[in-house]
Amino acid sequence: MGIVRDMADLLMPRRCLMCGRRLTGQEEYACATCLMHLPLTEYHKQEHSHLEKRFWGLFPVEKAVAMFHHDGEWTRRLIYHIKYWGHPDVATFLARTYAKELMEGSSFFEGIDTLVPLPLHWRRQLSRHYNQSHYIALGIKQATGIPIAKHVVKRVKNNPSQTRKKGLERRENVEGIFRLMHPERIAGKHILLIDDVVTTGATLTSCAQELAKAPDVRISILTLAAAAQTPIPALQNDTPETSVFGVPLME
Ligand SMILES: [Zn+2]
Repeated sequence: MGIVRDMADLLMPRRCLMCGRRLTGQEEYACATCLMHLPLTEYHKQEHSHLEKRFWGLFPVEKAVAMFHHDGEWTRRLIYHIKYWGHPDVATFLARTYAKELMEGSSFFEGIDTLVPLPLHWRRQLSRHYNQSHYIALGIKQATGIPIAKHVVKRVKNNPSQTRKKGLERRENVEGIFRLMHPERIAGKHILLIDDVVTTGATLTSCAQELAKAPDVRISILTLAAAAQTPIPALQNDTPETSVFGVPLME
């Protein structure tokens, strides 16, 4: 495998998705320097994380963590690779890395029975070809062995892209967009609801409120990235983004 990869590297060098530097044999997707400088949240070390507190009063949340702060060009680039540039395997890699860290440094996964990726609307999934949250869940499953519950909840409304809407507008926009399909699959269980980025938390809240209709369910949250509650400004200008860093978006 090593030789094959070394030869492939000679023919078509693999590059860090964040800084563009050539990757060495052991590195995957991002170089060690970029990974080391990811702005990690360390939420799992807080008794009640800042992220958990965002959901207080909205739905009964047990605990909530995010791998890194979504606060700059580099993390934005990572998320764009995952969401729009056809690299959901990056999400699996990051989630697996994060899950191992959580297992070593905390009891976060203790008592969690099943993983529930936040669903996309079928139309969006069709245009994107994948649900990035499912790929995050895959990484968590690979590290922890916790199973993924399928088709528990469905997205029944395809809310338009929310990147340009403000907080209150977003919350109104996401009401009733999910429907609980199989409550029996999560009844009595502690589920981990998984998403890529949390910004206002409105979409996650809407989904969690629907999941909370299942009998005796307990809900925790895991996301790759957590943005400050005021959305981060667009990189170039305020026009709708059709491309970022010169690469066209797929939807
Ligand atoms: Zn790098």
